[in-house]
Amino acid sequence: MEQIFNFSAGPSTLPKSVLSKIQRDLLEFGNARASAIEISHRGVDFMALARKAEQDLRDLMAIPDNYKVLFLQGGASQQFSMVPINLLRGKKTANYTHTGHWSDKAIKEGARYCDVNICTNSIDNGFTDIGDFSDWRIDEGAAYLHYTPNETIAGLEFDYIPEVAMPVVADMSSSILSRPIDVSKFGVIYAGAQKNIGAAGLTVVIVREDLIGDVMAGQPVMFDYAAQAHNDSMYNTPCTFAWYAAALVFEWLKELGGIEAIARQNEQKSQLLYQAIDRSDFYSNNIAPRYRSWMNVPFFLADAKLDAQFVKSASDAGLLALKGHKAVGGMRASIYNAMELDGVEALVSFMKEFERMQA
Ligand SMILES: *Cc1c(COP(=O)(O)O)cnc(C)c1O
Repeated sequence: MEQIFNFSAGPSTLPKSVLSKIQRDLLEFGNARASAIEISHRGVDFMALARKAEQDLRDLMAIPDNYKVLFLQGGASQQFSMVPINLLRGKKTANYTHTGHWSDKAIKEGARYCDVNICTNSIDNGFTDIGDFSDWRIDEGAAYLHYTPNETIAGLEFDYIPEVAMPVVADMSSSILSRPIDVSKFGVIYAGAQKNIGAAGLTVVIVREDLIGDVMAGQPVMFDYAAQAHNDSMYNTPCTFAWYAAALVFEWLKELGGIEAIARQNEQKSQLLYQAIDRSDFYSNNIAPRYRSWMNVPFFLADAKLDAQFVKSASDAGLLALKGHKAVGGMRASIYNAMELDGVEALVSFMKEFERMQA
C-alpha cells in the first residue's frame, strides 16, 4: 500500500497496529466465537474488554478512585447539555471561557439551562490568544467553570489549568491523552473518541463522584451521570465497536510508554511543524506562540490563490485532509497521538518542495 498520512481533524488517523488488530479479530474476537460487534455487551467477553479498557485509561491518566469513568454516546456535543443538567445543582450561573468555535457551542447550549458568565473572551483577537488569567471575570457564586483546553479549529491550546474554587469542566475532545494532566484538578473531563481515543460514537466522561446524583428535574434519564454510573455505562446498549477500538488504542498507548512518552513525541512533532512554518514567509501561523496547539496546526499560504493547488498536490503526495476549516481558511494539519513523526517530516518536506516550485 502507498504510504499515506492522514491529517484529518476528526474522525482522524488511528495507529496502523490498531487497525490491523481490528482487521485480524473482526471475524472472531478472543474466545467469543463471533466478532466484537456481534456479542452481547453483558456477556463475559465484552464485560472483560470493558473493564480492561477502563482500567487502562485509569492507569494512563492516573485517574483517582473518587472519579467515575463513563463510556457514553452522543459525542462531546451531548456533554454541552449533560454538564449543566448535572452540575448546576440548583445554581443559576456557570462560568464559560469563550476561546473559539467549540467553547462557543458549549456556551450556546449552556445558556439553555443557566445564565452564562463569559469569564474571558477571545473574540476580539480572532481566537488567536487567551486573556491573562488574572484578568478573567469569574463569578465566584457560579456552579462551575467550563473551558476548552484545545480549540480544535483555531489551534489554540491552554498551557495551564485554570485554578478556581469551583468544579472545573474541560472539553478535552482534541487533547485528551496528549500530555500529562492532573485529573484531581477537574470536576469533569469529557472527550469525543474520534480524535485521540478511537472511533466516532463513543464519548469518554471522567466525573468526580460527589458531582453526580443531583440532576436537574425533568431531564432525560440518559443524560443523568448517576444513572449511567450506576449501570456501568450500560443503561442501554453502549457503542460496543467504538469501546472495543478505544480498548485497543489504550493498549497501544501503554505499550508505547504512556502519556509521558507520547507527550514528548507530540511536542517534537508540533515544534518541527511550527519551525517549518516560521522559517519562511511563504507560510504563517497567527496564534500567540505560548498557546500554539500541539494537536491542530493551522497555517496560511502567503498567497491564498495557491491554497487549492497545495491541498491537491499534498493529497497526490499521500498527505490527506490538509484543507483548513472553513471558519479559518488556509490549511490545518491535525497531528494527534496516532500521527507519527514520519508523517510530520513528510509534510515538512512537502511544504519546502511546494514553496521551491513556486519560486
Ligand atoms: C470535535 C470536537 C467537538 C465535537 O465533538 P462531537 O463528538 O462531534 O460532538 C467538541 N469539542 C471539541 C474541542 C472538539 O474538538
